[in-house]
Order: sequence, then C-alpha cells, then structure tokens
Amino acid sequence: MGRRRRQKVRRRPQSRIPDVYPCPDCGNTSIKIEVYRDNEFATVKCGSCGLEENIDEVNTLTEAVDVYGSFIDIFYERRKAEIA
Ligand SMILES: [Zn+2]
Repeated sequence: MGRRRRQKVRRRPQSRIPDVYPCPDCGNTSIKIEVYRDNEFATVKCGSCGLEENIDEVNTLTEAVDVYGSFIDIFYERRKAEIA
C-alpha cells in the first residue's frame, strides 16, 4: 500500500460559498445579495430586519462580495451622516 499522506485542505467548489452575509444593522447573518450584471445593479436585502439597498456600481466582474463591500461603505456613510 502507498504511503499515507496528510490530505491537503480541499478547495471548496464555488457553489459552497455562502451567499448570506452579516447584517451591519441587526447583526444577523441574513443579508442576501443578488447581482444583476446585465442590468448593472445589485440588490442587498436583510431577511431579518428588512434593511434594503440597491447598488449600482456593478460591472461584469462584480461579485456578491464586492457588492457587500460597497453596501457596508454606504451603510456606514449614511449612519455617520445621521449621527452628525
Ligand atoms: Zn438586518
């Protein structure tokens, strides 16, 4: 029999990447992102608190995680503005 090798961590297939993200408002991991590359926009929606945002900085290379990043920026910009 061959030598036993320690198995390397397998790469997860793309489909295993979770499509929910933590919500900056309610703290639940229930943010769902849909990217409409053809229409160059994306929607971000929290299934828990109902927080909703449309992101229009979308191009053919935009991934959900990029949308999430933009969404977080927008969220905190807005929150800062509200506090000020
Ligand atoms: Zn939420």
